[in-house]
Amino acid sequence: MTTVQTSVVVPCFNEEDVIDAFHRELVGALEPAGTAFEICYVDDGSGDGTRACLKELAASDPRVRYTSFSRNFGKESAMLAGLRMSRGGAVVLMDADLQHPPHLVPRMLELHRHGYDQVVAQRDRTGESALRRVLSQGYYRLVRRFMDVEVVDGAGDFRLLSRRAVDALLTMPESNRFSKGLFSWIGFDTVSFTYSNVQRAAGSSKWGGRRLLNYGIDGLLSFNSRPLRLAIHTGLWLFLSALAYALWIIANVLLDGVETPGYATLIAAIVGLGGIQLATLGVIGEYVGRIYHEAKRRPHYVIRETDETAPARPEAAL
Ligand code: UDP
Ligand code: MG
Repeated sequence: MTTVQTSVVVPCFNEEDVIDAFHRELVGALEPAGTAFEICYVDDGSGDGTRACLKELAASDPRVRYTSFSRNFGKESAMLAGLRMSRGGAVVLMDADLQHPPHLVPRMLELHRHGYDQVVAQRDRTGESALRRVLSQGYYRLVRRFMDVEVVDGAGDFRLLSRRAVDALLTMPESNRFSKGLFSWIGFDTVSFTYSNVQRAAGSSKWGGRRLLNYGIDGLLSFNSRPLRLAIHTGLWLFLSALAYALWIIANVLLDGVETPGYATLIAAIVGLGGIQLATLGVIGEYVGRIYHEAKRRPHYVIRETDETAPARPEAAL
């Protein structure tokens, strides 16, 4: 067997409409590049015919390998499974919906040959609604203030990783995986180029507003405990100002005998403080929940079937 030079990892969730077109285009881009490649498809518990499509592809093409999950575990888990499967010296991560144009892969390989460990294809935001653009820009501004690792707008999961970068990623056992942060955490020489955003070819995006919001919160909380610190600061300041206010009222009563109309300020204070307390509790709860989640040490996914004779890499012994 020839050694694999390039692995392409593709998480798929309900992609039966595009998978064949995607595969043709990807093979069409890789063959002229003259690299010995394999394509690792991960079916993330699709409810449609994706699994059957992948099986068929794997049966007809020895360069195709696939793994199928027992249910939907999320894209992060699917990418992890793909990375564990991959054997190539360079690994390309990409989506199945043709939003990550396969014709860019040879260019990534070329940059990798120039010595870069991470090659990032960064999309611009053409064709996106103005609202989404403004929101995500605001989010990235927030993240940059809060996070210790650098996360770049538009730099998503479409990237090439060298073998040592992949191995570094695989040493991180956390179950809350926020890849954008992990990619930046491992470091190594990174280069990026921009391409024009493409709409997905068929099927629908699995990222509604709520899912995006949750993803955003995950990103903020996965990398440090600064939100906790912020909650402590806010609480402290509120307590001090409340104390000053109370002293001021007492002084007023003692010195001037002013009758204080109390209930309005009282209610404002109770509601305000209640809100802050709830938010703080929420933040603490998030961290505790994460600790609980990590402490269980559950595997990231369960495999239903795979075309491998033996699982590529068993769940890392922790
Ligand atoms: N995906 C996955 N599991 C999920 C959701 C998505 O494996 O639970 C895959 C999906 O099949 C696609 C990629 O992740 O290949 C990106 O998903 P999508 O196109 O829905 O996201 P968007 O491009 O809108 O960010
Ligand atoms: Mg997409």
